[in-house]
Amino acid sequence: MQELEERTEQCPYCGEMIDILIDTSVPQQNYIEDCQVCCQPITMDVTVGYDGEVSIFLLNENE
Ligand SMILES: [Zn+2]
Repeated sequence: MQELEERTEQCPYCGEMIDILIDTSVPQQNYIEDCQVCCQPITMDVTVGYDGEVSIFLLNENE
């Protein structure tokens, strides 16, 4: 079963709020997604806890 959770987070480049769709069936995720506004590559660091709580960090590739 695939579970998706939609989150709104702030882009580390342009500061705009962007929608992110997270697959909560995968407990640890690290991937790159382009910002919907400025098209820069954001590193997504996602952790899903046993209780289903999602922690997400958006990292600037240049840092
Ligand atoms: Zn952006």
